[in-house]
Amino acid sequence: MKVHNIMEVVVRDVISKYKDELNLPCTCEHCLNDVLAMTLNNVKPQYVVDEANSAYIRAVHEADRQGATAILTKVAWAAGIVGRNPRCDNMKNPSE
Ligand SMILES: [Zn+2]
Repeated sequence: MKVHNIMEVVVRDVISKYKDELNLPCTCEHCLNDVLAMTLNNVKPQYVVDEANSAYIRAVHEADRQGATAILTKVAWAAGIVGRNPRCDNMKNPSE
């Protein structure tokens, strides 16, 4: 059995669209995944069974400006936390 959280796709879109404006000290996959995970923990999940429905739900989300702004606010918040505490190898202090 498998279900898909459509918000994962929506948030991933927002991150890739705005990653240059999020002031992240590092935009490697690890850091972006941290932002994604942290955002998703603060966004109500929307599960679908069939990914074929995802295009429709994405379109609804993209048309919903208030919803999109709310997600961007959460992404920016998560990026702030990840940016202050990057956990990837790029940002680790070599002397530690
Ligand atoms: Zn990184």
